[in-house]
Amino acid sequence: MEYSKLVDIYEQLSSTTKRLEKTHIISEFLKETGIDDMEHVILLLEGRVFPSYDPREIGVASRLMLKSLSTATGISADKIENEWKKLGDLGLVAELIVKTKKQATLQTTKLTAKKVFDNLRKLAELEGEGTVERKTQLIAELLTSAKPVESKYIVKTILGEMRIGVGEGSMRDAITWAFFGAKIGVKYAKEGNDIEVEDREVYNRYLDAVQSAYDVTNEFAEVAKTAKSQGLGGLKNIGMKVGIPIKVMLALKADTIEEAFETVGKPAAVEFKYDGFRLQCHKDEYGNISLFTRRLENVTKQFPDVVEYVKKNINGKSFIIDSEAVGFNKKTRKYLPFQNVSQRIKRKYDIDRMSHNFPVELNVFDIIYYEGKSLINDEFQKRRNLLEKIIRQQPKKIVLSKIRIVSEKNEVEKFFRDAVNAGNEGLMFKSLDSPYKPGARVGYMIKFKHMMETLDLAIVGAEWGEGKRAKWLSSYTIACIDENNNFVEVGKASTGLKEKDKEGLSFMEMTKLLKPLIISEKGKEVKVKPKIVIEVGYEEIQKSPTYASGFALRFPRVEKLRDDKGADEASTLDYVKKLYNGQKKS
Ligand code: AMP
Repeated sequence: MEYSKLVDIYEQLSSTTKRLEKTHIISEFLKETGIDDMEHVILLLEGRVFPSYDPREIGVASRLMLKSLSTATGISADKIENEWKKLGDLGLVAELIVKTKKQATLQTTKLTAKKVFDNLRKLAELEGEGTVERKTQLIAELLTSAKPVESKYIVKTILGEMRIGVGEGSMRDAITWAFFGAKIGVKYAKEGNDIEVEDREVYNRYLDAVQSAYDVTNEFAEVAKTAKSQGLGGLKNIGMKVGIPIKVMLALKADTIEEAFETVGKPAAVEFKYDGFRLQCHKDEYGNISLFTRRLENVTKQFPDVVEYVKKNINGKSFIIDSEAVGFNKKTRKYLPFQNVSQRIKRKYDIDRMSHNFPVELNVFDIIYYEGKSLINDEFQKRRNLLEKIIRQQPKKIVLSKIRIVSEKNEVEKFFRDAVNAGNEGLMFKSLDSPYKPGARVGYMIKFKHMMETLDLAIVGAEWGEGKRAKWLSSYTIACIDENNNFVEVGKASTGLKEKDKEGLSFMEMTKLLKPLIISEKGKEVKVKPKIVIEVGYEEIQKSPTYASGFALRFPRVEKLRDDKGADEASTLDYVKKLYNGQKKS
């Protein structure tokens, strides 16, 4: 295909901001694109020459581009730089100067899309001595044959500045319209805000099939080729390939334990929610390990330690596992918040020192491929059982995520406390019989970061009520325990109690318990010996200068009396801080 044809599409796409119109333009174009052209055409439409997960980069910065423009046109770099200052965009500068130059020389060689694509890929492969010269030549070779408008897009693609609005959604829709549109009756009218389809459900099924194929391959070219040559059946058979990342399954969020159970069902698996970063680890049949982040960046080079752990401690010739890498303090071996290890992800040099200074532990929580077979349609429970069989746990290197199978709220509460106390963010609920859905935020996995009913607080003061509550102590000053074993206040709770005994914990009962503990009285306020512990729910923990703890509970609510606990067993200030830190990130 001639590059000018693609450039014509770029121009059409740039002339509209409407998503549907862009989709229509791409879909018409894809219909005409032959299978052999599909790969480079689709990548170039996306403004790149490598799929997003591929770590290779063109590696040409603006300075080198200036030099190449000068070599290609014979115009001095200073002059080009002046134009750049005026226009602010090297693509536009290229178009302008190539136009001036062309009038003089009248070059006529036609560029093909493949030629542009190949030269751009070659740029990424060059390294070592003379790289700058060879890169300049490769770019100049394209620019001398390019028409002015073509040179604009060549320059923009090289610099990664296409911005013509071809996102994942548009590409998925365009592929669906191009290869299935006629069959399922998709009609596009330029004026409308929506398309017409014969049957929405059928349409959505095709869209889903295209999306699912993309979620496991991350290459629209492959999806388009398959859709064109093998139809829907082909798409359904598209499988994952070891070494190519698949989109990870995402989590929904729940605010209460009940809500989480409602979505994932009972019994459910709950796991520690680690505060690290996601790592998808692949091992192919030749023993090669590759690691990808949640955003599918290849970070194999950055984590030689993890590569070793995976190689040595997972039994299997080929697999893809899903995990969270968590940093820990070398001395105390306690988990560290994500920020402490985040610098390792982008690191390009000094890698060994970094892995020594910022070690991570791999917490494996899922497996999506094993010994040549995809496991995404297997139940979670089955996938987990397999993991337990094939992983040799090595604490502070590679372990399985901590898990419990639970049905009761109090079991979750206890596990949540364990999780937070061990430096984690909270819990993940997982439905035992669900498949693994790549790229989707479905209810198979629910994050649960705050537990409002978690604090057990000692009552250190109270206030006599007003009106008909005058004979009751009806508002309670509540405190947690700081590191010196002092009671430090976190707020005052007055809601949640009943006026009548029969309805639940009442003001009367509380008054009976607290009255003998009064140490001093001032106006309506009393101070009491810390002896009574109540469980308190709240909306949020806020920083506060008012209370000695430095924190205040927003909308505290008395849940129940914890007469099974002494005041010395009240929640600690450290725990309050951890909960506060956990909620900030969500
Ligand atoms: P969030 O980033 O807050 O949306 O939470 C989802 C993320 O939690 C996932 O993408 C993982 O990186 C991370 N995570 C930590 N522990 C687990 C676990 N046990 N299971 C699944 N994801 C986990």
